[in-house]
Amino acid sequence: MSAISLYARRTDGFDERVAHAVAVLQSAAAEHAGRIVQATSLGAEDMVITDLIARHGLGISIATLDTGKLHLETMALIPRIEQRYGLAVDVYQPVAESVVHFVTMNGERAMYESMALRKACCAIRKLEPLARMLAGSSAWVTGLRREQSDNRGGVPFSGPDANGGSGGRIKFNPLADWSWADVWHYVAANDVPYNPLHDEFMPSIGCAPCTRAIAVGEPFRAGRWWWEDEKAKECGLHVKDAPVSEVSALGALR
Ligand code: SF4
Repeated sequence: MSAISLYARRTDGFDERVAHAVAVLQSAAAEHAGRIVQATSLGAEDMVITDLIARHGLGISIATLDTGKLHLETMALIPRIEQRYGLAVDVYQPVAESVVHFVTMNGERAMYESMALRKACCAIRKLEPLARMLAGSSAWVTGLRREQSDNRGGVPFSGPDANGGSGGRIKFNPLADWSWADVWHYVAANDVPYNPLHDEFMPSIGCAPCTRAIAVGEPFRAGRWWWEDEKAKECGLHVKDAPVSEVSALGALR
């Protein structure tokens, strides 16, 4: 059963939420001309945002992280974005030496052994390349929604990045008030390309070793780092109280 048939639903206020998301993006692009990037996880929310950016001709560049652990289905979206919208996607990868050193020291399955090792893996494969992605930008755009988890219940449409640092970079979350039904209604109505893994009960898709399908009734992010305590389910990219080593990364992806 496809994600569209499972989730897409038009609900009251949909058109207003789309119009508001466009207004947030337009204002962001105007205020931060030439210095704003969409950090896309290539998940459904981010594909919607990329579609809005392309549809409205907004001056927001598109970038993503290739952690080296993504599903092939996720990576295949990069050329699809380029073909469909004519927009280049800048791809940031971890420092190869850091990855080799970490895997040599801790093994390929280190993320399952302890939270410290899992976070160290995320730091090398996500946080450091994200910091490079955001260097030189004064703002970035993410697909965070309040509904995604309790941790994200207070996500604003825009504001100083919760981690501070980096000269007051602003984070824009144009879909903050969208429901999952909204996301899929938009995808269906606009024929937005999406990751086929969403059709396999993976609403939130990250690295392959750290993502599994969820069962009916499980929370949205239950398939992410499922062996860890619920409160720990962020990779440091959106966490308010990240340690200093993570502060420069500020961010949001996956
Ligand atoms: S999500 Fe998993 S594989 Fe990806 S960087 Fe974090 S620990 Fe490593």
